[in-house]
Amino acid sequence: MKKFFKLGGYQLAELIKDAKLDRNELPFLFQERAQRIDPLIKSFVEIYSQPIIGEGASFLKGIPIAIKDNICIKGKRITCASKILNSHISVYDATVIEKLKRAGLVILGTTNMDEFAFGSSCENSCYGPTKNPWQLERVSGGSSGGSAAAVAARLVPFALGSDTGGSIRQPASFCGVVGFKPTYGRVSRFGLVAFASSLDQIGPITTNFVDCAYLLNIICGFDKFDSTSAKVDVPDFTQALTFQVSDIKIGIPQEYFQEGLDKEVEEKIMGVAKQLEKKGAKLIDISLPHTEYAVATYYIIACSEASSNLQRYDGIKYGLRESKDNLVELYRESRGEGFGEEAKRRIFLGTYSLSSGYYQAYYLRALKVRTLIKNDFQKAFDKVDVILTPTSPTSAFKIGEKITDPLSMYLSDIYTISVNLAGLPAVSFPCGFDKNNLPVGAQLIGRAFDEQTLIRIGFSYQQMTDYHRQIPPLVYG
Ligand code: GLN
Repeated sequence: MKKFFKLGGYQLAELIKDAKLDRNELPFLFQERAQRIDPLIKSFVEIYSQPIIGEGASFLKGIPIAIKDNICIKGKRITCASKILNSHISVYDATVIEKLKRAGLVILGTTNMDEFAFGSSCENSCYGPTKNPWQLERVSGGSSGGSAAAVAARLVPFALGSDTGGSIRQPASFCGVVGFKPTYGRVSRFGLVAFASSLDQIGPITTNFVDCAYLLNIICGFDKFDSTSAKVDVPDFTQALTFQVSDIKIGIPQEYFQEGLDKEVEEKIMGVAKQLEKKGAKLIDISLPHTEYAVATYYIIACSEASSNLQRYDGIKYGLRESKDNLVELYRESRGEGFGEEAKRRIFLGTYSLSSGYYQAYYLRALKVRTLIKNDFQKAFDKVDVILTPTSPTSAFKIGEKITDPLSMYLSDIYTISVNLAGLPAVSFPCGFDKNNLPVGAQLIGRAFDEQTLIRIGFSYQQMTDYHRQIPPLVYG
């Protein structure tokens, strides 16, 4: 195993093809590694004793993958890291799971997250936080912290996460891996437990862009079971794996490089810009003037949709039930017991902004500002092909540092949430280490349904650098 765990999924697949690696043995090598190392970082909710072996075939056949615990896998526990689901068993496969099975991938287990994907640190989990494999006293990011940490620690070559306001990209940035949020509608949400339905999107977390392209090939595409899934052709994303950036215009938005951004993070992002410029890309200053309203707009819309989506956990349909002889009390006790603090906070905020007296002042207004934010991007994309920004204002913060101050936690999402409000594709990839030896992530934002350009630039960057090959020393061996 020693020599295999460092490799990307596509490299493992090549070894299998050349008969240098046993396809049937590989999942068990990773299972053993995960069982041995995960107690240190706690990235998994469950490591299956019998990995689920997909029947179908593809280039990635036999390669193990981990799944965020808010995506339904038939016959398996799904918890969303919430007490209220109380080990509910999924009765069907999410569309993405069906597709992974059809491609012959092997599901190794489920990963930790903030409860119902509410958070930026993986601390809002009923299982406790997933630790950052680079430094155990730091957060892994959130909400897909388990998936990002498992991949960073090479307990699995890649994983799926979900991103409503940065939940794939920010933990990828904190853990030093690649996290890709596709265009809204590109990947079916059928079988993804809903947080904010107009923002949620499933995507891959990998160590490199080659794996990212292969996984997108598998999971993207129209699905009649998701009414918001887009009827657009899916290109072969591996065609974008070329070292070529000389035709690219990169926008640098001034609003993303202001107060609050850590100096070291800023330097690393500018380093990416310069490196791409050296290879012929053009850097262009742009403005996204409504950026300052993004956090408020996002939290009104996301909480409103969450409060509505979470109505279904009533103590009757799923999971935890506090048995009472009075129906209202049953609701109150089950929800009171089952939901964690952050979930309750969001239900309160969302119910308030949707209530008849405040709907116009908050929810409706937020929808209007959402359009302004979307228009900002549209204007920018008249001038540039992609936008380069930091993923997060800082590298991974300490466990406990922000948990008692929700507002400062919300504010740390500043660079990722506009992308979801506008429905655009974006990716975070490692671009260096700060003086504490913590990974720093850069974000590229693309035009709707232009994932290819992001893959091409990311792939080119990884040809010139080796940050993505660094493995946290704590999990080596
Ligand atoms: N951190 C953001 C939030 O707490 C985004 C979470 C997500 O993308 N699921 O809502």
